[in-house]
Amino acid sequence: MSVNGLPPYDTNNIFARILRGEIPCKRVLETPHALAFHDIAPQAPTHILVIPKGPYVSATDFNATASAEEIAGFWRAVGQVSAPLEGSGYRLLANMGHDSGQEVPHFHVHVLGGRALGPMLVRPA
Ligand code: AMP
Repeated sequence: MSVNGLPPYDTNNIFARILRGEIPCKRVLETPHALAFHDIAPQAPTHILVIPKGPYVSATDFNATASAEEIAGFWRAVGQVSAPLEGSGYRLLANMGHDSGQEVPHFHVHVLGGRALGPMLVRPA
């Protein structure tokens, strides 16, 4: 389930294993199309990952190949997880591919908040 130019989905990536229940996670929310859980190495007081349940490598793959129901369900879940941070503000972040530093090849959105998050990107030296 990948689009042209993207690597095939690795069924043994860590988030696939979490979805299969092979390794634990600190679950925040589960819906028919999404799972949200705390990042194992949080970079802010709130750092939650939201992943689709389907096998999508990246945002590109998900947006191109997921059904409308999966896309809607996923983004509704992102909204539910983000809602408690609405007052103070929050950041959504999705890494995609080499230059972004994407570590886990299963599409995920980071929900970050709970402190002032600083500049969006580190400027090159
Ligand atoms: P990315 O660099 O966007 O691919 O982010 C991958 C994220 O997954 C990192 O923030 C990791 O800390 C996080 N992560 C890796 N393994 C786990 C795990 N077993 N449970 C929760 N978060 C994880």
